[in-house]
Amino acid sequence: VTSKAQLELRTALGEAGWITGIASQPYTEDWLKLSANPALGVARPNSTEAVADCVRLCREHHIALVPQGGKTGMVLGSVPGKPEQATVILSLERMHRIEHIDPIGGTVCVEAGVVLDQLQQVLGENNLQIPLHLGSSGSAQIGGLISTNAGGSHAFRDGMMAEQVLGLEVVLPSGDIWQGNRALLKDNAGYALRRLFCGAEGTLGIVTRATLQAVNKPADITTLLLSCENLENALALLGLCRAHTGKLLNAAEFMHAVGVNWVTQHCRDVSFPLESVPPYTVLLEFVSPNAALQLEPIVDHLLSEAMQRELVSDGVQASSEQQRAAMWALRESIPEGQRLHGRQLKHDVAVPVAQIANFIAAASAAVQNIMAGTLVNPFGHMADGNVHFNLSPPAGADIEFFERSDAFNKAVYDTVVQFNGSIAAEHGLGRAKVALADRVRPEVERALMRTIKAAIDPSGFMNPGVIVHMDNDSH
Ligand SMILES: Cc1cc2nc3c(=O)[nH]c(=O)nc-3n(C[C@H](O)[C@H](O)[C@H](O)COP(=O)(O)OP(=O)(O)OC[C@H]3O[C@@H](n4cnc5c(N)ncnc54)[C@H](O)[C@@H]3O)c2cc1C
Repeated sequence: VTSKAQLELRTALGEAGWITGIASQPYTEDWLKLSANPALGVARPNSTEAVADCVRLCREHHIALVPQGGKTGMVLGSVPGKPEQATVILSLERMHRIEHIDPIGGTVCVEAGVVLDQLQQVLGENNLQIPLHLGSSGSAQIGGLISTNAGGSHAFRDGMMAEQVLGLEVVLPSGDIWQGNRALLKDNAGYALRRLFCGAEGTLGIVTRATLQAVNKPADITTLLLSCENLENALALLGLCRAHTGKLLNAAEFMHAVGVNWVTQHCRDVSFPLESVPPYTVLLEFVSPNAALQLEPIVDHLLSEAMQRELVSDGVQASSEQQRAAMWALRESIPEGQRLHGRQLKHDVAVPVAQIANFIAAASAAVQNIMAGTLVNPFGHMADGNVHFNLSPPAGADIEFFERSDAFNKAVYDTVVQFNGSIAAEHGLGRAKVALADRVRPEVERALMRTIKAAIDPSGFMNPGVIVHMDNDSH
């Protein structure tokens, strides 16, 4: 059956659209390189109709279909789940056309395989941008960003990816094409279908085209890197920013000394601009929509109050675009620094903003109880409560540390639940967190998700094993 299916897929997709064997291997591994299960082949359609053909063939032949964007997801959603399951990866990489920019309406229509940085570059030429900023923007695709409902540094003000999506075109598991690609903010004609696909992680269909909101680029930007002795001070600083600058606040990111030190040790070309690495470093950014609204006096006033209240012990302001980029490179290299340091346990969680310090203290105590000396690297998007609470073993204790992975994960996620937080803030559940969600989320909520999955993908071949486990997961 599979060789017949492969032949039909090759015929439908053409030579450039169907890859097998050694050439398909790079598609089986994502950024984290945690698994590399084989695929029957990689479909690389270059049109929505070709996507629909591929979907129909996979369904008919009972082959699991895994949609793939830039492979920067953190929860194993874009790569085959099981070695024994016949799986086709559907890469959107050939669908990368930016089709229409409307500077008056502030919208852009793109195919799903467009990479975020490339879109920002083209929009920038029209003085526009998508209000989404994240460290994977050089590889992450619009379809992947929509399907994970990506967050990033501006989410506290501009919302997550779903907020940027006005319309979508989606190939459904039936092979039908849903033409919902409207450039409309207000479209309440029934259930919010476009929302359903934001964060669906490829389990309900394949996003092929989207219309997104684009906003004007700021006229002025001020970026600062500040030292804080503790997180309580960092949070008080955030409160001051909200009070003094309102919507001008563009980012409020925090990093722990453990993560900053790994970046300076392992990432070439990234340096720390202050004299010494403090317990917590905060990156603040402010933007002004109009040159007439000057940031300087507003930020000066904020900083003088922060110094007076001893919230900040040192700091530097970017005086060029190069320095600003270097500050962001530091923040965005934290995941890479820890990856280069060695194996780790990642936890992408969210708690109410004012509880961040309490949560980190409680979760740190819980993991130290399991193994003293565990290296805790908390960092993230302070203004929306999103904490990346990542753990690495003490030197020389890798084996004992990873033997206790389940205990570490349980301790962290149980603490999240105590704080009424989320076990999956911006990376989604993928394959990695399904059992966890079944354990800690309300059963009514999980049952509702299974009902939605069964209704839209009754044969269960669309990214099986992601978000929910279904009885028909194994084809
Ligand atoms: C260094 C680094 C920093 C990061 N920072 C952030 C951050 O700040 N905020 C954040 O939210 N995430 C962050 N991420 C995670 C990641 O970049 C996002 O989850 C991103 O949205 C994934 O996009 P992608 O194109 O790489 O998708 P992939 O990883 O290829 O796929 C992700 C999921 O979407 C599905 N999918 C992909 N394309 C489609 C499609 N067209 N239709 C249907 N389903 C599809 C896949 O099946 C999979 O389940 C970071 C990752 C890295 C490596």
